[in-house]
Amino acid sequence: MQQRLAHSFRRIIAEEVWRQVRLRLELTLASKIDKALFKCRACGQCLLFQTAFICPLTCTRELRNGPCRGSNPQHCFIDRSRPCTWYLIYARAEQQGALERLLEVNAPRDTRVNCTKAGNMTPHAQGCWQGCGPRLWDRLINPARYYADWENYHNRQRALPWWQGDSHYHPPAYSEPVSQLEKRLRSGKFVVSVEVAPPMEPTGVRIARLAEQLEGYVDTFNFTDNPRGVARMGGLACAIHSLANGIEPVLQVQTRYRDRYNLESEIVGACLVGVHNILCMCDDTGRLGPGPPPAPGPADLDAVQALWVLRRLRDEGVNVDGLQVEHRPRYFLGAVVSPCATLPRYAALITHKKINAGAQFLQTLPIFDLARFCDWMEALDKRDLLGKAYLIVAVEPPKSANHLRFLASEVPGVIVPSSMLTRMAYSHDPHEEGVQVALEIITQLKKLRWIHGLHIHVPEREEVALRLVKESGLRDFTPQVEPRAGNGRGKADPDPVLQPTTRELPTHL
Ligand code: SF4
Repeated sequence: MQQRLAHSFRRIIAEEVWRQVRLRLELTLASKIDKALFKCRACGQCLLFQTAFICPLTCTRELRNGPCRGSNPQHCFIDRSRPCTWYLIYARAEQQGALERLLEVNAPRDTRVNCTKAGNMTPHAQGCWQGCGPRLWDRLINPARYYADWENYHNRQRALPWWQGDSHYHPPAYSEPVSQLEKRLRSGKFVVSVEVAPPMEPTGVRIARLAEQLEGYVDTFNFTDNPRGVARMGGLACAIHSLANGIEPVLQVQTRYRDRYNLESEIVGACLVGVHNILCMCDDTGRLGPGPPPAPGPADLDAVQALWVLRRLRDEGVNVDGLQVEHRPRYFLGAVVSPCATLPRYAALITHKKINAGAQFLQTLPIFDLARFCDWMEALDKRDLLGKAYLIVAVEPPKSANHLRFLASEVPGVIVPSSMLTRMAYSHDPHEEGVQVALEIITQLKKLRWIHGLHIHVPEREEVALRLVKESGLRDFTPQVEPRAGNGRGKADPDPVLQPTTRELPTHL
């Protein structure tokens, strides 16, 4: 009897030891394969299934919802020695017919979770360990199970109750416009906004002078947030000063300098003091600044996540932790879009994602290449996005050929045609030539449908804006858009009469 018990006990121990050894071996092997195949960083919040099996953490900024404004087919904008991760993801997803999967709004990283706490387990390794994830060998012997396991595994990673990301369009849940800008856009009137670079000195004289000069010609001042990596006065202080001087502000907020709590608290504070137009963006890279750039590491939120957080706070009364708030703030949300940087269909996809996340108006980067801009409009049309968010196009009169070269090489997403460079280089009066270039672009833009406004981008030369508005006749211009009672087109505001328009885009542009 004793012998039999000892024998059984030895057998149980041996089996357990063998099980542990086998699991450890599988674990190590799977981890090594994951790292080799996917450059897996073992974050524990895997998006590989969604991102065509390319780890998004290999993006220089570790973006989880799509490319930055500088993404292009040649290289990463920050680190030019390597390709753009998100361009590769889009290209592979397109090959696999899985582009639409990339529309889902993914949560920011939960820093409490990572695989290293469980012995550096990657997703495959977790599958081995827990018997619930994808097993690499299934890819060869049972591909259907392999992909189903990935889907299940991925669903568990992203179905976070505090986030509730999805890939649907969410129309704004309010009826009355919250700002003069929104009111004007809804009524189908053309808007003119001017970008104002805040001063570095604590004086509001320049803003007051500009407000006096431009009153009656522009609708909003758009205050930048430490543009091009140079420290300046905070945008909120400028916005309050602008309100006091009679011009409604648009407050730009870069997520680079704010975590999720700072973002919410700043925007709620902005609402209290009457600033209701918010433009969300990821960041202007510090690479453009005069000093050594800050580390290009990840921000807490990207622009899509910021839009999602702010939309839910306003429309659902839920803060970033998933807690209810009693009094909902009111604001008009915008996003920056980069029509020309990457392929038009990819640029349209990230625009689609921003509209779904909550963008009610879109402000483009300065447009110099109208042909590429029209390609992007066509791609938006294919996605049925024209008119779903108000489109405000940025125009910047170049100062010289060197200025144009700087914009083309250093500002993410700005593309300059070589013919324009040559024109500026051979001009005897580059300043005047730049103004003429801008006037010609405005004339062409006025011919397009679904352009709701113009953003004049003349940092530190805001006086030029007055000349552009006067000479291009923008104040009397009626855009080719449909006045809307609600915010854009969407499920909650369907309108079958609206037919966009590709055919009407001038083909010569
Ligand atoms: S270009 Fe932007 S999106 Fe692409 S890898 Fe670099 S930082 Fe990431």
